[in-house]
Amino acid sequence: MPKLENILLVGASGRMGNCVQTLAQERGISIQKCTTRPCVQLPSPWPSDVSVVIDFSCDSVIGQMVAKLLERRPPFPPLVVGTTGLSNDTMESIKLYTQRAACLVASNFSLGIAILRACVRLAAAKLPDAFEAEIIEIHHRHKRDIPSGTAQSLLNDIRDAQMLSHGASGETTPESVKIHSLRMASVVGEHQVILAGPGEQLRLVHQAENRSVFAHGAFHAAQWICGQNPGLYHMEDVFGI
Ligand code: NAD
Repeated sequence: MPKLENILLVGASGRMGNCVQTLAQERGISIQKCTTRPCVQLPSPWPSDVSVVIDFSCDSVIGQMVAKLLERRPPFPPLVVGTTGLSNDTMESIKLYTQRAACLVASNFSLGIAILRACVRLAAAKLPDAFEAEIIEIHHRHKRDIPSGTAQSLLNDIRDAQMLSHGASGETTPESVKIHSLRMASVVGEHQVILAGPGEQLRLVHQAENRSVFAHGAFHAAQWICGQNPGLYHMEDVFGI
């Protein structure tokens, strides 16, 4: 895999932005910051050695940032988006960018969540439709999006697996799966999927203990995407799950 040389970081002043900078310092990778307030401004002059853009900002920033990147002359740097709660308009901007460069969107960069999602897909497909599924997610009080992007991805995983396996005729319709969101103190992130059926319960839980797990995942994704063709990618592609 090519070495990460220089990262353009969007959302540098935030919780995740700080974490990414700490990790970059530990690994000897240089960081250029993209200003987002009062509006998005790419670094000028443009640093010639930008390997990848990593974004941990908010929905309203991404469309502006993509538009600014597309105003530049090629080559267009690969883009890794960690921001969650993306609107349809923002996803359309990202899809536009995927015509020019590789782009990875991840609601969660941790390996544990990628494995959890694979387990949930398996459970939802294999358990009989008498089983009910519910999702509980807990995050710190400052998190903006409710439900979390990861909980939304888990919900989609359950729906897709149930629809594929049981069709729409089952006792538990995919629409009946609910997300319960709690916002408490400084919790980094917990996701729990409960599948309950006649006489038994299956609980699948993931707890992120600190933010550096997401920063490590983002760097892994960034390194992986540097060798990829234009297109839209996900963490499942990175981990080969
Ligand atoms: P934060 O609020 O601490 O930081 C957000 C950053 O974006 C800051 O630099 C802030 O200045 C900038 N920003 C926010 N709103 C803005 C606006 N309206 N205009 C211009 N700039 C703005 O948030 P955080 O905890 O660092 O999280 C950032 C994003 O990353 C969130 O969407 C969060 O859910 C997501 N996240 C993703 C993962 C993952 O694994 N994919 C992990 C943790 C957090």
